[in-house]
Amino acid sequence: MTEQKNTMDIKSMTLEELQSHLVALGEKAFRAKQIYQWMHEKLAAGYEDMSNLSKDLRDKLQKENTFMKLNIVQVQESAIDGTRKYLFELPDGNVVESVWMKYHHGNSVCISSQVGCRMGCRFCASTLDGLERNLLPSEMLEQIYSIIRHTGERVSNIVVMGTGEPMDNYDNLIRFLRLISDDKGQNISQRNITVSTCGIVPNMRRLAEEKLQITLALSLHATTDEKRKQLMPIANKYSLKEVIDACKFYFEKTGRRITFEYSLVAGVNDTKEDANELVDLIRGMNCHVNLIPVNPIKERDYKQSNKEQIGQFKARIEKSGISATVRREMGRDIDGACGQLRRKHINKQC
Ligand code: SAH
Repeated sequence: MTEQKNTMDIKSMTLEELQSHLVALGEKAFRAKQIYQWMHEKLAAGYEDMSNLSKDLRDKLQKENTFMKLNIVQVQESAIDGTRKYLFELPDGNVVESVWMKYHHGNSVCISSQVGCRMGCRFCASTLDGLERNLLPSEMLEQIYSIIRHTGERVSNIVVMGTGEPMDNYDNLIRFLRLISDDKGQNISQRNITVSTCGIVPNMRRLAEEKLQITLALSLHATTDEKRKQLMPIANKYSLKEVIDACKFYFEKTGRRITFEYSLVAGVNDTKEDANELVDLIRGMNCHVNLIPVNPIKERDYKQSNKEQIGQFKARIEKSGISATVRREMGRDIDGACGQLRRKHINKQC
């Protein structure tokens, strides 16, 4: 895996770092505020847009600092609900995908946190080719910025549920979260940001101490260690008890309700017993269950539970007083499971 450096990547810098950087370049510190505003609030497409900077300074920045930009390779728009899937090319030629969804409460963007993934969850397309590299904070930001520029619409919600395991790219993720929610930038409320993890316990505990108000979603998918191990290799490393304890700790520290994601796979984890065990496992927690009918990928033989089974599973959870929703399938006509647009693109080139 090749690791990219943060250092001269101007869009990954905090305002304070940018100030020190400009002073080091022999410039006045107040320039940092202007540049930061151009990048994160006005979403400038390049240094050339920064009209209140001298040509000299713009040239200097051009020489010293990478200005992160992504190329839009492809946009697929759903005829059903207007959902758009974006395929972006990164400066090194890798591609990642992001999804733009319109809801009545505002627009939501689902971003990728890594190129590929090394977690190996059995039903997931994003992990089939392993991990290529981590994304920089600027590369996570720019997925959202590019979409705002392209749609001309505001974004109010962010989910880090695209390709990659955010807790496996921890430092860059935290930096990204602080930058996207900064009131001098896009000022997206942390309460409208959800980070989904397969359950890397030490980093879930670290996240709890970051004093962020984001929602943590845990990919649970099974109610016993044995079954979870069959679906998610990470379960060999951390037991269900450790993962659930980390969720409780997150709630204690942040007061934020946990979301449990549970992908329903026909005949694997969708029975009455599974639902009852799920209730026993999370009873008493301040939480919400998000049921995801598994999105079949051609490389594996997993099938969706039928509507009736899904309805019964949801009803059992709700009967115990725990709130549950079934994830609405957005953009069904442009779909393929997460990560498939990227794979299609890569395979076409090989
Ligand atoms: N690495 C993070 C984000 C992954 S994607 C995580 O593991 O949480 C977000 C959610 O979609 C996760 O719960 C993931 O397990 C689930 N998912 C991935 N592929 C899926 C598929 N084909 N069908 C249903 N859910 C899937």
